[in-house]
Amino acid sequence: MRALFWIALGLVLVAWLSRKNRKVAAASQPQSAPRAVTEQMLPCRHCGLHIPASEAIICSDGIAFCSAEHQRLSFSS
Ligand SMILES: [Zn+2]
Repeated sequence: MRALFWIALGLVLVAWLSRKNRKVAAASQPQSAPRAVTEQMLPCRHCGLHIPASEAIICSDGIAFCSAEHQRLSFSS
């Protein structure tokens, strides 16, 4: 009966320590600061709006557009 008490006490202690360690680890991790995003901005050929290169519609000849609509309008006129 006495051994059972010590085993239970040990389990509680281990659970408490692991929870405490987890809190310390979470607190010591640096806050995820927003990284400086450096992305090339391209002007739309039709309206001149500058848009990130990843969002631009770029033609095979390298001309960028902000949207498919402006691409269509630029080529129709
Ligand atoms: Zn545009």
